[in-house]
Amino acid sequence: MSPEWSFPLADTIYDVAVIGGGPAGYTAAIRGAEYGLKVALIDSSDKLGGTCLKVGCIPTKALLFNAEIWDHLKHAAEFGIEGIGTPALNWAAVLKRKDGIVTKHIKGLDFLMKKNKVAVIQGTGRLTGPAQTGVHTVELTAADGAVSQVQAKNILLATGSAAKMIPGLTPGDRILTNIEILSIPQPPKSLVVIGAGAVGLEFASIFRSFGTEITILEFLPRIAPVEDEEVSKELTRLFKKRGIDVNTGAKVEKVETTETGVRVSFIDVNGKQQIKEAEKVLVAVGRAGLTANIGIEKTKIELERGLVKVNESQETAEPGIFAIGDIVSGLPQLAHVGSMCGMVAVAKIAGRKYRPVRRDRIPGCTYTEPQIGSVGLTEAQAKEKGYEIKVGKFPFAGNSKATILGNHDGFVKIVSDAKYGEILGVHILGPQATELIAEAVAVMELEGTVEELMFTIHAHPTLAESLLDAYGAVEGMAINA
Ligand code: NAD
Repeated sequence: MSPEWSFPLADTIYDVAVIGGGPAGYTAAIRGAEYGLKVALIDSSDKLGGTCLKVGCIPTKALLFNAEIWDHLKHAAEFGIEGIGTPALNWAAVLKRKDGIVTKHIKGLDFLMKKNKVAVIQGTGRLTGPAQTGVHTVELTAADGAVSQVQAKNILLATGSAAKMIPGLTPGDRILTNIEILSIPQPPKSLVVIGAGAVGLEFASIFRSFGTEITILEFLPRIAPVEDEEVSKELTRLFKKRGIDVNTGAKVEKVETTETGVRVSFIDVNGKQQIKEAEKVLVAVGRAGLTANIGIEKTKIELERGLVKVNESQETAEPGIFAIGDIVSGLPQLAHVGSMCGMVAVAKIAGRKYRPVRRDRIPGCTYTEPQIGSVGLTEAQAKEKGYEIKVGKFPFAGNSKATILGNHDGFVKIVSDAKYGEILGVHILGPQATELIAEAVAVMELEGTVEELMFTIHAHPTLAESLLDAYGAVEGMAINA
């Protein structure tokens, strides 16, 4: 199905015009249409999906699945599978499969827009100021420079984010961001990864599986710094076991391209100058919200360190203008946060019930080997907030399904409130952690207690049983450890 782009109609006043067609924007557009609102979705690209679908979550996770299969093949004999000889990696086929997945889902979005009668308009949208008699006007610049207008009673800003760069560097074939690294012609022999957040850790994990020599340089004292400290510590140990050179407390001084690759100078944790040469360097030092050149200065919208301040219905200080996704201040830049912000905003616009997005109910998923899934407060955060806590920890070593999968790394950790047994945080490192965390999010959303969960039947044998054991461990009563 080919995309069906609409043209802005001068006499149409939409209920909602969404600027930006990533997960925040397209979800809001669909949900808005489901509420019966007349919706326009504006994107400067001719392909919907934003960073997540085109150069983020989806293609990265596609590569991670290839890496997982590749890792399994390396151990095929352990599983009694013989006769496959020496597996060879056809990288072009790996990239083709990844691109096919992306294309399929872009087409899927085109289908969903048609199905929901969302008007998809190609062009760059800019705010022109406050609403006039209840109607906002968005200035639309088409790819050929033609300027027109889209009118709507409400605007949703969903312009997303872009990778931050170390000053003085320009991405290219050796200095990579999440975009370039997704289409490199071959896995590099060596890669320096600057920044150990989700982007850095995931690419380190993928390319290590494919044999790349990896050096991680993280400025803070630990990798995965937003996670519980025990998760960072165990992931560091497991990454080192996989042969990844993990440097924390590392201050990058200079990144230069050489004849054959890159040279990265940094001061290590002991204050010693170090130089690392590699074929390529990945810069994964965070993402900046795309709030420039969208007309914010013509409105009352307030920015906080470059990101948009919103209230609990995602509305900005300018009535009728909402912000969702990576440009929002105070929330993590995650696709699933963006899409939920979008659903909240359109529910508010449609006069429907909604629950505001709560920071402590957001699952964080890092698709490394092993994976991280977490929600709520870390042990340190809970203590900082003054809770008296009880912690339960259960290692996957005691879980029979983990044994069947041949993957005993990691643990489930529960942080609970000692007084009422409320679950304050769940931190999982290990097999399928990104799937397992869904139970914990639902439990926390419904304010489940340790006692209730200790009597919640979990099927046997499953990885999910490790949660049951971890709830038990809070009271010192895990069964399998
Ligand atoms: P991030 O902010 O999560 O992590 C960047 C890391 O780089 C931090 O640990 C920071 O201390 C470090 N850093 C910054 N400057 C540095 C420097 N000069 N030298 C060394 N280290 C430096 O950013 P990211 O990993 O680029 O990800 C961007 C956003 O996208 C994040 O919000 C992330 O959560 C999101 N994301 C999520 C997923 C996922 O959910 N699986 C995957 C990819 C990206």
